[in-house]
Amino acid sequence: MKPDLFEAPDYYNLDELLSDEHKLVRQAARDWVKRDVSPIIEEYAQKAEFPEQIISGLAEIGAFGPYIPEEYGGAGLDQISYGLIMQEIERGDSGVRSTASVQSSLVMYPIWKYGNEEQRKKYLPKLASGEWMGCFGLTEPDHGSNPGGMTTNFKDKGDHYLLNGAKMWISNAPFAQVAVVWAKNEEGRIHGLIVERGMEGFSTPETHNKWSLRASATGELIFDNVKVPKENLLPNKSGLGAPLGCLDSARYGIAWGAIGAAMDCYDTALRYSKERIQFGKPIGQFQLQQKKLAEMITEITKAQLLAWRLGVMRNAGTATSAQISMAKRNNVDMAINIAREARQMLGGMGITGEYSIMRHSMNLESVITYEGTHDIHLLITGLDITGLNAFQ
Ligand SMILES: Cc1cc2nc3c(=O)[nH]c(=O)nc-3n(C[C@H](O)[C@H](O)[C@H](O)COP(=O)(O)OP(=O)(O)OC[C@H]3O[C@@H](n4cnc5c(N)ncnc54)[C@H](O)[C@@H]3O)c2cc1C
Repeated sequence: MKPDLFEAPDYYNLDELLSDEHKLVRQAARDWVKRDVSPIIEEYAQKAEFPEQIISGLAEIGAFGPYIPEEYGGAGLDQISYGLIMQEIERGDSGVRSTASVQSSLVMYPIWKYGNEEQRKKYLPKLASGEWMGCFGLTEPDHGSNPGGMTTNFKDKGDHYLLNGAKMWISNAPFAQVAVVWAKNEEGRIHGLIVERGMEGFSTPETHNKWSLRASATGELIFDNVKVPKENLLPNKSGLGAPLGCLDSARYGIAWGAIGAAMDCYDTALRYSKERIQFGKPIGQFQLQQKKLAEMITEITKAQLLAWRLGVMRNAGTATSAQISMAKRNNVDMAINIAREARQMLGGMGITGEYSIMRHSMNLESVITYEGTHDIHLLITGLDITGLNAFQ
């Protein structure tokens, strides 16, 4: 793979909206991605393997629980810093960002928000340091966009719960020590349970042959009469709103992360357009190629403004789930379109692993599907503005 020469575009001087702390946090993440991710990521994506050696680096840059309070091992940062870290990591690879998103927003967040003090103290510091990795089990083979239909269930057996069912498409599942699992009790109410590797009847087979997010491990969670201790139930929130609250936090991170992937594709295509000579000129001198680049930087700038404004509202606690949906949907769509255009600008070289673009392009096919598909987020916006439910 070519050396990482990335220079971040900032067409509207958005750095003026950031604090010194934001810029320091971003720089640390950017330097780490250049040093520890870019040189190895193509090889790991090619062999479809998660590079476990980067876990400690992710912890060091604050990617595990950026906004979780320091007393629980988190970085105690604000939402914009969280977003900037996700942007920088996804600039390297969406699969690596997925690992960090799951750990922070889908595992640490519910334990912090819905757990009790003993659970916070037991799990959060180990998850923040990367000593333990976590996964989040919501999706099932027959229930993806409609998680409320889930059939995974648990029964009260007096001194423990008995958990049965299966989850599918679970990021980090093959190596996670801890799974936050959403299941229905005997009354059909959804609760979160912390399931640990090693519990009898719990297995995590890996999902192979993915053409997307190849550097992220994906698997199933199988529960065959798993005895879960009663103290592993998250006591402070139940119902579908509990997992959806976690998804809000993760989707917000994705809205920033997708900008990173788009910036990397744009920056690569811009540099290539000045170096690649055809018909005696750099291809960047042709109007058709300039149109692509001009539209890319326009869309990136709009996405940056959307993410920054959403971050300000998240810091104030006023961002709605529907506003987060809009940013996730728009920014991932923006990134996937830019990846496709940038790929074409590199001609044949665009399909090789010499450049990051094809990997970003394939990764974004998952990002546009998970955490609510592109169409589901449109329906969320539609419901929000009309008050009319078009889901069913
Ligand atoms: C690589 C990867 C990692 C993932 N990681 C996780 C994870 O860590 N944890 C987890 O719980 N899940 C995870 N997922 C699952 C992901 O969230 C689901 O794939 C996603 O929610 C879509 O569900 P589905 O695949 O079952 O598609 P379906 O729900 O079957 O949807 C199929 C199509 O139908 C459309 N559709 C569905 N309902 C409607 C409707 N009402 N109106 C119009 N169109 C509709 C959808 O938009 C989609 O285009 C992951 C997925 C992938 C690919």
